[in-house]
Amino acid sequence: GLARVHNGRRYRLGVMGGTFDPIHHGHLVAASEVAARFDLDEVVFVPTGVPWQKKGRKVSQAEDRYLMTVIATASNPSFSVSRVDIDRRGDTYTVDTLKDLRRERGSDVDLFFITGADALSHILSWRGAEELFDLAHFIGVSRPGVPLGAKDISHLPAEKVTLLEVPAMAISSTDCRQRVGENMPIWYLVPDGIVQYINKRGLYRDNITTNPEDH
Ligand code: ATP
Ligand code: MG
Repeated sequence: GLARVHNGRRYRLGVMGGTFDPIHHGHLVAASEVAARFDLDEVVFVPTGVPWQKKGRKVSQAEDRYLMTVIATASNPSFSVSRVDIDRRGDTYTVDTLKDLRRERGSDVDLFFITGADALSHILSWRGAEELFDLAHFIGVSRPGVPLGAKDISHLPAEKVTLLEVPAMAISSTDCRQRVGENMPIWYLVPDGIVQYINKRGLYRDNITTNPEDH
């Protein structure tokens, strides 16, 4: 792999998985904040393949979600994008994402998986939960309206999980899609290039109703 010992210590790689349909400034701020607080060398964004947690709603083509993620992260030298989840057949499971990245980057890289604190509290229901904590450290970022008390992660190994508050950004992909469907602006919620890409490809125009429980 590319990553080796860096400044005399192990390379620290953040992993931000998501549907990114579309990627928005909440994702980018969370990644930037975690990178600074955890002294990460790089954050790799990993768009999901078939998002099994989102079955029941139409998800944009993987290639559109991948390209939006590339566009949004291109200007940051510490951000990169991986195709491991969209190139793997079948549903996406975090345990597979982490194993693939470890295979690609080598065993001398420390992985930090960044996820919404809400998702983190369900982590033990994820496939391969027993293996997850051997593969990475987990960072749960709190999102607006989703407070997470310490008790919610009390069942997880404390040395493998950290909760972090990121500057509150009440932005979600669901809201962005809804706004496009209603002809409301998404300028400044997402990078300019994403507004332009969504318009160019005509994404989300027929966005009807979404189930708030799908967030
Ligand atoms: P949707 O509304 O379709 O569920 P989303 O905005 O939650 O989309 P995802 O692609 O599902 O975006 O999120 C990827 C990761 O980023 C998840 O771990 C999620 O919790 C986290 N995340 C999403 N929005 C924010 C935000 N505004 N601030 C911090 N983290 C966020
Ligand atoms: Mg979500």
